[in-house]
Amino acid sequence: MIIILCAPSGSGKSTMVKHLLETYPGQYELSISATTRAPRGQEQHGKEYYFISREEFEQHIHNNDFIEYEQVYEGLYYGTLKSEIERIQSAGRTIVFDIDVKGGINLKKIFGNDALSIFVAPPSIEELSRRLYGRGDTSEEMIQKRLAKAEIEMADAPHFDHIVVNDDLAKAKAELDRLVNVG
Ligand code: ADP
Ligand code: 5GP
Repeated sequence: MIIILCAPSGSGKSTMVKHLLETYPGQYELSISATTRAPRGQEQHGKEYYFISREEFEQHIHNNDFIEYEQVYEGLYYGTLKSEIERIQSAGRTIVFDIDVKGGINLKKIFGNDALSIFVAPPSIEELSRRLYGRGDTSEEMIQKRLAKAEIEMADAPHFDHIVVNDDLAKAKAELDRLVNVG
């Protein structure tokens, strides 16, 4: 089974992924995407992302190294390398994807019933805005881009196997546990 977690940026997806990895040590592993955006805060190459140049990213596109990739924001590429999937599967672990909504829908098409796709929704756009500002690591311009994109992404929620509303964090984590355990 493969877990696909998608959500508008700031909904709490990273918090959810962290919860899965910490609650079930050795069972899940996060698929580390490649991106052309700069590291934020404490982010490290090879941990949250593979931070690569635009030239390197384009070379990977050219070599057909990605299972999927998107220009998630204008000028910023994000993609999942096929080698990343092989790395995690050969370690015998369940892959967790933390990717944007379009990418998630694409992966669900590729993996079909082998994948459980979950949409993590914020309680409201206003709360999403509060969380993005509260996190304190994203510029005003990027927050505005994310909020605009979030409104569009919310409309795609029905394409997912399940929707988890991340209002009360403890409840959202419990709901995620239930879903990954029952499939
Ligand atoms: P994403 O990975 O979707 O961009 P994060 O997991 O970084 O989102 O969460 C965005 C911010 O909101 C973080 O500061 C996080 O601590 C906070 N947050 C996450 N879930 C909740 C929640 N249920 N209630 C309040 N704040 C939350
Ligand atoms: P952030 O810059 O906040 O880390 O991520 C921005 C968005 O890009 C998030 O919605 C995140 O899930 C998405 N994303 C991260 N990696 C990938 C990927 O490999 N492919 C796609 N399509 N989206 C990704």
